[in-house]
Amino acid sequence: MALFTPGRRWQPPFFPFKKEPFGKRVLRKIERWTKGPMFGCRMCGNCLLQETAFICPMECPKGMRNGPCGGSTPEKCYVDETRPCIWYKINERAFKMGREELLLEVLPPLDWDKVGTETWGDVVRSIRKFGTASFLKSRFTRDKEKKSHAWESVFKPVRQPEWWQGDSLYHPPAYEEPVSNLERQLRSGGFVVTAEVSPPLGTATGKLKRDIDMVKELVAAINFTDSASASPRMSSMACSKIAAELGADPVLQIAARDKTRSGLQSDIVGANVMGVRNVLCITGDNARIGPSPTSNTNILDMDAIQMLWILRRMRDEGIYLDGRKMKSPPQLFLGAAASPFASEPKFQAIREQKKVNAGAQFFQTNLIFDPDGMDRWLEALYKRDIIDKVYILAGVTPIRSKRMAQYLHHNIPGVTVPEEILNRFEKSREDDYEELGVEIALEIIEKIKDKQGIHGLHLMSVGWEAIVPRIIADGGLN
Ligand code: SF4
Repeated sequence: MALFTPGRRWQPPFFPFKKEPFGKRVLRKIERWTKGPMFGCRMCGNCLLQETAFICPMECPKGMRNGPCGGSTPEKCYVDETRPCIWYKINERAFKMGREELLLEVLPPLDWDKVGTETWGDVVRSIRKFGTASFLKSRFTRDKEKKSHAWESVFKPVRQPEWWQGDSLYHPPAYEEPVSNLERQLRSGGFVVTAEVSPPLGTATGKLKRDIDMVKELVAAINFTDSASASPRMSSMACSKIAAELGADPVLQIAARDKTRSGLQSDIVGANVMGVRNVLCITGDNARIGPSPTSNTNILDMDAIQMLWILRRMRDEGIYLDGRKMKSPPQLFLGAAASPFASEPKFQAIREQKKVNAGAQFFQTNLIFDPDGMDRWLEALYKRDIIDKVYILAGVTPIRSKRMAQYLHHNIPGVTVPEEILNRFEKSREDDYEELGVEIALEIIEKIKDKQGIHGLHLMSVGWEAIVPRIIADGGLN
C-alpha cells in the first residue's frame, strides 16, 4: 500500500478513486477531450446524453439527472447565479429537436463506482453482445423500426443498469385500500386540507404538541419539513413520530439533499414502523441558501424522482435498490413537490409527469400567489394526461409582513409574489400587515377552490400555526 499519494489531494472529485488499467485510462482521456468540448461532459461515467438532448446535465450543481429543480428559471441557476440553469437549456433544445418525450425516462442515480471513468467501453461491450455486424448493418438500413431497435438494444443497457430499469411509463400503485387518512380523504373526493407545522429549533416539544393538537382535527394530515431552507432543526422523522402518537396523520418530508440512497431506504422502513405512511419526496433547497458555513453544495446522491422510484419499488415489489427482497414491505402514500411557476409550464409538466410515473400519488405545490397564473401549468398537466393520476394540493401561505413578501419574492426559488400584492403591503400600515396577509390568503383560496384539477390546499403558515384555524374557518374549508 502506498504511504503517500501526493496527487490524490488535488484530484477533482469526479476522478476515479482507484487506479485503472492503462487502456481504460487512455480511453478516458480521449472521451474527456472529445465529449467535454462537444457536450460539456463532466465524466460522470454514467452517460445519458442521448436522453438529455446532447447536453451534459452534470453541470447542474445539484446533479439533477431527471429534469430541473423547482427553482429553475430561464435566466440563471439559483445555486450559482453566474451560469444558466442547464436543465432549462436541455428542455429548450429537446423541444426544438422534437426529443422531449425522451426526457420522460426515469434515469438512475450515479453508480459511483463508475464516476470519472470512461463509458465507451460499456457501449462497445453492448454492441458486441447485440452483434457487431448486425449493429453496423442496422445503421445503413432504411427500416426506421429496425434502426431504432438496434440503437435501443445497444444503448438502453448502458444507461439503464439491471438494478434500476427505469422507463417512461406510468406505474399505478399496486394496492387497493388507502394506507393513510390523507389518502382516504383524497379518494373520497372532498376538498382536502393539509397544514405544515414547523419543527422546533430545540428539543422542547411543548409548542410542537400544542400546534399538532390545535390543527389535527381540522386537517387531513400534517407536514413536517426536513431542514427547510437547508437550516437544521428538529427532524421531520421525530416530529412525524410525535404526531402519529398524538393521533394525527403525519406527512414525513424527506429532502434528498441530506440523504444517501442507503439512508433513505433504512429511514423509510423505520418510519413505517413508527406509523408514518405519507412521505413527501423533495430534492430540497440547496445548501447555498442555508446558513453559513455552507455545507456540501455539490452533486447529490439522488434526486426526488429517483427517491420516488426507489420507494415505489420498495412498496410495490418489496425490493431494496440492491435487489434484496423484504417479506413485509412498507405501506406508503407517496407525494412530491410541484412548482407551477418555475421555468416554463411545459418544461415543468414533463418533470411532474416523470414524478407521477415514478410513483408520486399526490403533489403539494410551491406557494401560489397568482391563482390565475396557475392555469397555464394546469393546462400543461392536462396535455400530458396526468391530471387524473395525481391529487394536487395547492400551497398557500399567509404573508405576515412587508419584509416577508419581499423575501419570498426575491429569495425563495420558484416563488413569485405579484407586483399587486407587494404594492398592497407597501401601502399598508405596519400594524395591519397580518390582517392584510390573511385577507390576501383568503382571496387566493377562494379562487383556487374553483379550479378543476385541484383537490385541496396545503397551508404553509411558516411558524404562524395559530392562524391556521381562522383561515380554515373563514375560508369555508371545514
Ligand atoms: S436551477 Fe436547479 S436544475 Fe437548474 S442548474 Fe440550478 S440547481 Fe440545477
